[in-house]
Amino acid sequence: MTSAILPTYARYPLAFEHGEGAWLTSTTGEKYLDFGSSIAVTSLGHTHPHLVQALTQQAQKLWITSNLFEIPEAETLARRLADATFADLVFFSNSGAESVELAIKMARKWNTANGQPERFRMITFQGAFHGRTLATLAAAGNPKYLDGFGPAVEGFDQVPFGDLAAVKAAIGPQTGAILVEPIQGEGGVRAGAREFIRGLREICDESKLLLCFDEVQCGMGRTGKLYAYDYYGVAPDILASAKGIGGGFPLGAVLATAEAAKGMGIGSHGTTYGGNPLAMACGNAVLDVLLAPGFLEEVSRKGLLLRQCLAGLAASHPEVIEEIRGEGLIQGIRVRVPNGDFAAAARAEKLIVIPAGENVLRILPPLIVSDEEIREGVSRLEAACRHFEMAAASQLKEHGAGG
Ligand SMILES: *Cc1c(COP(=O)(O)O)cnc(C)c1O
Repeated sequence: MTSAILPTYARYPLAFEHGEGAWLTSTTGEKYLDFGSSIAVTSLGHTHPHLVQALTQQAQKLWITSNLFEIPEAETLARRLADATFADLVFFSNSGAESVELAIKMARKWNTANGQPERFRMITFQGAFHGRTLATLAAAGNPKYLDGFGPAVEGFDQVPFGDLAAVKAAIGPQTGAILVEPIQGEGGVRAGAREFIRGLREICDESKLLLCFDEVQCGMGRTGKLYAYDYYGVAPDILASAKGIGGGFPLGAVLATAEAAKGMGIGSHGTTYGGNPLAMACGNAVLDVLLAPGFLEEVSRKGLLLRQCLAGLAASHPEVIEEIRGEGLIQGIRVRVPNGDFAAAARAEKLIVIPAGENVLRILPPLIVSDEEIREGVSRLEAACRHFEMAAASQLKEHGAGG
């Protein structure tokens, strides 16, 4: 039967029936080790008992009332996020793109509130991904995703990632903010250097610009810190969060200082679903686990173990692996074979990894992954490497026989 779904994805011929922790079971009954976490979304693995309990308990009480009323569960989550971060205020949305979109709007409104509405432009970075709305596409400026959708939203100036001199040169009288994904996920797990991220903070302070972080992918514990800004040791003024924050339930959040949010008064923004009690139950349950004493330290430790195992893999398979990069439990393997082929070879070994830019494979295990599962995953990656080495060896043989 032909699919009635809009064909915007080239899907793998594989579907899953249930999941538990770091494991997925396919509709044909095969078990896969999930080192993709639904693209950094299932931060606590599949069907985490604490999340299932929080979601089902809330499902029996109340799903949604709209933002015309007070939502105690949202008050709680916003307060907890503010207390745990640089932020004073939080807005809840349903996705990453919506969160980045609000970050952009908020930055523009801040400049307007300062009496400088002409400073609506934002400096952004090549290789970033910010979502699929018209403004977030324009922010990232990837021509592949903008093609055919009419004029791009005005106001974004892309410069090379990591290039502070280019940032300084791009600042003009209309520049009001900088938007950066500190560790580019879709772009190929490119982590900004510490001097670069700190340099952006200095530039923003000097030129009175707002610094906005897109931590939709690299946030929520991936680096071993609640947010990556803490790993870098500089706070943004606005931060967009999503993906792992709901543990699998659609949830996004924008975190901001009171100063950065000062233009956002009553009526300036809104959402039908954002902050609904079901999403809030999941968000609160995720934070229960992430903020429990010792949890993030464990993520750091497991990140180091993963990194060591991957470095060993790269050392023993230099023909297939070019480079390992990333931080904590967001690691990238740059391969010398097409990354889509490598992901397919990994799937043949019953391991899920996710292709990204620069011919990289993203390794994003759930934060609850065990040491044993890390070693198992890397041994499956090793089997995938051997697949390409054997293919290369047999090709050599064929050539030899022919010559
Ligand atoms: C996935 C992602 C987005 C978009 O999130 P959606 O929930 O798909 O809208 C934005 N920014 C970054 C860094 C992402 O990884």
